[in-house]
Amino acid sequence: MKYIFITGGVVSSLGKGLTAAALGTLLERRGLRVVIQKFDPYLNVDPGTMNPFQHGEVYVLEDGAETDLDLGHYERFTSGKLSRKNNLTSGQIYATVLEKERKGEYLGKTVQVIPHVTDEIKARIGLLGREDACDVIITEIGGTTGDIEGLPFLEAIRQFSLEVGPKNCLFIHVTLIPFLHAAGELKTKPTQQSVAKLREIGIAPQILVCRAEKPINHEIRQKLSMFCNVPVDAVIEELDVAHTIYEVPLMLQKEKLDSIVCRLLELETPPPAMEDWSKFVRQVIFPTRKVRVAVVGKYIELKDAYKSIYESLTHAAAANDAGLEVIHVDAEAMEESGSAANLAPAQGILIPGGFGDRGIEGKVAAASFARNNRVPYLGLCLGMQIAVIEFARNVLGLPDANSKEFDPGTQNPVITLLKEQESVTHKGATMRLGSCPCRLRAGTRAAEAYGREEILERHRHRYEFNPAYREALEAAGMIVSGASPDGTLAEIVELRDHPWFVGCQFHPEFQSKPTAPHPLFLGFIRAVLQHASE
Ligand code: GLN
Repeated sequence: MKYIFITGGVVSSLGKGLTAAALGTLLERRGLRVVIQKFDPYLNVDPGTMNPFQHGEVYVLEDGAETDLDLGHYERFTSGKLSRKNNLTSGQIYATVLEKERKGEYLGKTVQVIPHVTDEIKARIGLLGREDACDVIITEIGGTTGDIEGLPFLEAIRQFSLEVGPKNCLFIHVTLIPFLHAAGELKTKPTQQSVAKLREIGIAPQILVCRAEKPINHEIRQKLSMFCNVPVDAVIEELDVAHTIYEVPLMLQKEKLDSIVCRLLELETPPPAMEDWSKFVRQVIFPTRKVRVAVVGKYIELKDAYKSIYESLTHAAAANDAGLEVIHVDAEAMEESGSAANLAPAQGILIPGGFGDRGIEGKVAAASFARNNRVPYLGLCLGMQIAVIEFARNVLGLPDANSKEFDPGTQNPVITLLKEQESVTHKGATMRLGSCPCRLRAGTRAAEAYGREEILERHRHRYEFNPAYREALEAAGMIVSGASPDGTLAEIVELRDHPWFVGCQFHPEFQSKPTAPHPLFLGFIRAVLQHASE
């Protein structure tokens, strides 16, 4: 088993997660079995309780773990299916250590960061290797070198490297080489200092991945090599990508990152097979047509909040030889202005998931616009609930129809709390989470899109479609096209008399990959292109 640790220097938001994912792509396509995990130094047990404004999207895994959005990159860039073992936080570590202490497992010893916390971290690195059949484990350490919170993780990986030996372990430091416009040059000092900080802790990175907005010339590479003590060919340039994040593996391949990694870890493999990946990238960069989709949400100014959705749309658009253009519509602003003017240029409308009542009426208006103007609609989780509320109000004639989440006293709770949620008081990890089976009704848009009878999709919600309204809704033209196998939970609804109007209670965006777009997104984009050409 080989272990690669990726740390970050100088600033946050360098795209360490993407670098880890892209290295995963290259190694996997060299025939290696790769698993990627992330260690996050914050004290939240998981990001499930964090505000998307602060932390971006919460990415949900098959087993229901609510994880950091970098795990989305890992799943999209490799074929690996991840589980809750792949995202470790300081919160989890401390919870485990404190529980052991209360049980008396430390036999009266003083419980300390070293060795008790670091041992726990090391045990978790080893756990993945024992339970998953793999050749390489890539571990991304969240945060930036120099953060107080990150120290126990760095100490743990230092100890770990000693235990497994230098041929089995590799440290990659992803760092920033800023371009000073006033001086007109790239600066290496912050990287020198960041590497010095790591070496102080006892970690000497063998590869530097240098994020920069301008190419790094040979002179700068030599300077970095000398001051940071890495061979000059291990100074890897990673420029800001011009078009799409999916260029990153190809860029790193050109810089020979994967061959250096294999050389240092003594892995004998053929060069990576990247043909289909390159083809996908060409499709993203050089489409012959455009597809314009409005995303109506609450966290619209923050791109990371709907990351997987934008990625899934990109995958489906590329598969249809179309370049994606997203119109970001702020649901709250739409609610205040009462105008749907922003939606007019949209060829399709997507309403993502969300919590809380802000912007809800704006989203209902957007669903109304899509239904009335026969514009293709895809509602994800909350977006499905919105579609039901809109239809109940404006077609069934129930003006107060609502979700109990937004109006607990409504006389027409078309969306209501799941039974199992009624007694829940804790917020963390208590929703309906993870993969659930769903059976599709033949002859529907959903069945057509999937081309299958039964599907598995990931959930993250507390509320559901109220079955008491099913008959009335279906009689009026809103069909339940997917349901739990026992028939009790409506998982997909769609409109009978509309070109393509589908809402699903789950999150298909967590299962789309660049070379295997998700069927619902494909169906949606096809319908959007069809609508645009009419
Ligand atoms: N707030 C809704 C619920 O809890 C929808 C959740 C979501 O969109 N993820 O059911």
